[in-house]
Amino acid sequence: MTHPASSPRTLVRLATATTAVLAATLATLAAPASATPAGPAGPNGPAATAERLTVRPGATTTDADGTTHTHYDRAVGGIPVLGGDLIVHQRPDGTRTTTDSTAPAALRAAALTATTAFAAPAAAPRPGARRVIWAATDTPAPAWDTVTRTPRPDGTPSELHTVTDARTGAVLGSYDTVHAGSGNSQYAGAVPLGTNPSGSLFQLRDLPRGDQRTLDAQNQTTGGILFTDADDVWGNGKPTNRQTAGVDVHYGTAVTWDFYRAVLGRNGIRGDGRGVVSRVHYGTNFNNAFWDDSCGCVSYGDGAPGSGKPPTSLDIVGHELAHGLTSATAGLLYSGEAGGLNEGTSDILGTAGEFFAENPTDIGDYLIGERVYKGALRTMDRPSSDGVSRDYWSSDLGTLSPDVASGPARHFFYLLSEGSGRKVINGVTYDSPTYDGSKLLGIGREKAVRVWYRALSTYMTSTTNYSRARTATLQAATDLYGATSPERAAVAATWNAVNVH
Ligand SMILES: [Zn+2]
Repeated sequence: MTHPASSPRTLVRLATATTAVLAATLATLAAPASATPAGPAGPNGPAATAERLTVRPGATTTDADGTTHTHYDRAVGGIPVLGGDLIVHQRPDGTRTTTDSTAPAALRAAALTATTAFAAPAAAPRPGARRVIWAATDTPAPAWDTVTRTPRPDGTPSELHTVTDARTGAVLGSYDTVHAGSGNSQYAGAVPLGTNPSGSLFQLRDLPRGDQRTLDAQNQTTGGILFTDADDVWGNGKPTNRQTAGVDVHYGTAVTWDFYRAVLGRNGIRGDGRGVVSRVHYGTNFNNAFWDDSCGCVSYGDGAPGSGKPPTSLDIVGHELAHGLTSATAGLLYSGEAGGLNEGTSDILGTAGEFFAENPTDIGDYLIGERVYKGALRTMDRPSSDGVSRDYWSSDLGTLSPDVASGPARHFFYLLSEGSGRKVINGVTYDSPTYDGSKLLGIGREKAVRVWYRALSTYMTSTTNYSRARTATLQAATDLYGATSPERAAVAATWNAVNVH
């Protein structure tokens, strides 16, 4: 739950380096004499002769012994090749082998017929269809690839590709690039997982959510290996199965992605559509988790020695990812009152994400880490119930640790969402006090989190203190709901209730 205060640790960049090395050697290794080792390849790519083959590295997986398997995307005459995979396998000792299921000569033959086929198609291609060479059979053919994005009945996203022969209009094949695996998590029951088929295995890799990936750090502090699985059913709900922690984290990271998109209108943690790399089983006896700015990745330990309770629950994952969001927006420093607001933001967004998930096993609450730590790590309705956090602002708040100084921010969010006094929500009893004795009603969690996020992303800076956070949220409420809105009035009254003016 900490934010990296010292120099951040570096995550594996192995895949990138390895594919670069392989690309450089590929021409002599597997491709025909006319191949070029890299470069953009597509229907609108640079001019190319009809039969020129180009290759570029795609996904790489790494085995436990360090052997890498790199898939190469191919194009012929500038047209992408679908199927007929080219895979290069490299061992740690440098020896390489290749799997190449389509002969280059057959691809060139297909490309020579493509110009005519695309110019006068048997049936008009559907809007948005792209030109491809379909190479799943021994006789590659020019074809149209049409993508249909209709979610499945259970809400799982879908990107269904239908490939039709450009010469005859016949359907040659179809496949879905959104693959949904299933996981048995430790804290959230059975959950769907975004996974990716690769060869005969599946990877814990969520392409529609910015290619988020979950790795096994193998109890080291550097590196990590992408989880793979043969049957796409992951973990068994117990910490003794190494995949289980990966399931909790991969699921929580997907929920956070969806929450940011649906409620905050944000495309990824850093707003750039790029997913997060997560590592579980980090270090030995590491009872914590942390976000690392330098790689945009999160690492999770195995928890207290012998506890079998890694800090990988939904709210903790959401907490860590929110550190990335804060870093990409306000950039709140991790000390003084700004540090308290930084930690508070992580608890606020981790909690809001847990409610958003509507998971029947890990039910939404205003407790932090309650699935991992007995009696929860922190609470939001009455932060002082942990024995150290402050319920209200006081002049010494900035001298305290960020966890402790986050109390008034957590309390503000609870009061703004739910109001003061005794209340039972999803079976949990809360009793939230106010500094000034006021009685508050709350404006609901969704409005409260929108106000906080807008303040964070638009008005807060690295040195924002509590008083300026008040100003920032008032401005955010004005932007969202109007200067004379009840929501803005509630924001002002709620800050008064935690002694922030
Ligand atoms: Zn934190």
